[in-house]
Amino acid sequence: MIRTLLVFCVAIISNCIFAQPARPKLVVGIMVDQMRWDFLYRYYDRFSPQGGFKRMLGEGFSCEQAMIDYTPTVTGVGHTCVYTGTVPSISGITGNAWWDRKAMRSVYCVEDQAVSTVGSSSTNGRMSPRNLVVTTIGDELRLATNFRSKVIGIGMKDRGSILPAGHNGTAYWYDNTTGNWITSTYYMAALPKWVADFNAQKWPNKFYREGWKLVYPIDSYRQSSADVKAFEEKKFGQSFPYDLSRFENRDYAAIATTPHGNSLTTQFARAAILGEKLGADEFTDLLALSYSPPDHIGHAFGPNSVEVEDTYIRLDRELGELFNFLDARVGRGHYSVFLSADHGVAEIPEFLQENKIPAGRVFMGSIVESMNRSLAEKFGLHKLILSNSNYQLSLDVRAIDSAGIDRRTITNRIVEQLAGQPGIARAFPLAELNTVPLPSLLRERLNNSYYPGRSGDIQLILQSHYIDAYNNTGTTHGLWNPYDSHIPLLWYGWGIRKGKSQRTVNMSDIAPTLAALLHVQLPSGCVGQPIPEVLK
Ligand code: ZN
Ligand code: ZN
Repeated sequence: MIRTLLVFCVAIISNCIFAQPARPKLVVGIMVDQMRWDFLYRYYDRFSPQGGFKRMLGEGFSCEQAMIDYTPTVTGVGHTCVYTGTVPSISGITGNAWWDRKAMRSVYCVEDQAVSTVGSSSTNGRMSPRNLVVTTIGDELRLATNFRSKVIGIGMKDRGSILPAGHNGTAYWYDNTTGNWITSTYYMAALPKWVADFNAQKWPNKFYREGWKLVYPIDSYRQSSADVKAFEEKKFGQSFPYDLSRFENRDYAAIATTPHGNSLTTQFARAAILGEKLGADEFTDLLALSYSPPDHIGHAFGPNSVEVEDTYIRLDRELGELFNFLDARVGRGHYSVFLSADHGVAEIPEFLQENKIPAGRVFMGSIVESMNRSLAEKFGLHKLILSNSNYQLSLDVRAIDSAGIDRRTITNRIVEQLAGQPGIARAFPLAELNTVPLPSLLRERLNNSYYPGRSGDIQLILQSHYIDAYNNTGTTHGLWNPYDSHIPLLWYGWGIRKGKSQRTVNMSDIAPTLAALLHVQLPSGCVGQPIPEVLK
């Protein structure tokens, strides 16, 4: 009797100490780099009933009008916003890179000269989240469980894994010079055994030997007639099947522009789930997974290509298999998944032109060069425009001031010259952002990216379907337009309702929705709102 009572008391006490609020065992965040919302429906008939997209659409919740609430719509910022619930003006991540006024150089969003690579001899591991000035949902989850939750970021791109993993999680990314998955001394001194074992298998070479063959006959693809167009960057040959064997043991970067890069990422994620025992105990873990290859493939071949269609057919199957693996490993109904994208993409301008839709390329690099030449002739100062990044120009204000020239004289001259360029819709000094005539939506999105010291002096807005280009093939993304800013947002699993909403929500609403799902504090810079219709 006493013994029973004792056991009972111990049970109560340990419950008081250890009982967690109701939470899933694992949250899997899936970022598909460059996936536009409309791809869910453009390729709907290509998705398998057993695949990932129909499972999420059919059994989960879809926010059909999820928009990116800032510009520039690029990878580093998108991955940051999703996991921090905030915008560049608060997170400090204003681009993949930005002109840093204090350092007087371009700074890469996850660079960190104070750390070194773990897992290879290259310098590709000199990275950390140090430039991010707020917490992520993973950081908050770790704080909430006294660091018992595991938070792992995985993505071929360093910025796609480091920023989602936050300050207190762990990130692994792909070293395209060695084909290894690596990390940095910010996180650890040596790779865990499961990562070293994975690298030893030399997966990239196996995939290269397979080549890239289409899943279905080429005639069944939407753009099969356009597959040999000159505006596609033909990296692997004129048409399918692509022989990739020449890259074996030679070029580990090429895999990132094939669907095999997605498979490599999934294989590594499975190894992480097993190696780190994710979802195995009562403390919720977070796996932040980023699929980078769709971005590389989209840039090269355009969203309306056979290559992109085949990539999504394969990714759909692969996500289905990943969910089956999670069902077996963690248990169906015991994990929650969300899927979104860091940004969308514009169609290839020449493809639109062929179809009578206004579009074009603006070669900003050469425009800036020629403006610098004419400014040098006029004012005797060289390279007055220091940088052109994130659709902003940064001026050498120190040189202008010390030469005793009025900044406005230079600024006005640049703005006038830019305004005359085809494809440029607006150019204005960033200091006049709140007085220049502009729709409030654009003004708000631009304000959301203003961070002192990491923003430029002159803002550019291109006309719809005009892209910032440096060659005549492929396409890109980065501005406010719907094709760049309308992203998929799917939820599935533990705590998630079944349904669909047409209410407009923001990318910055994802992290607060996760905070509500997990009953943890909002990330420290969060400006978004939870999406109540998603949650049970
Ligand atoms: Zn991206
Ligand atoms: Zn991109």
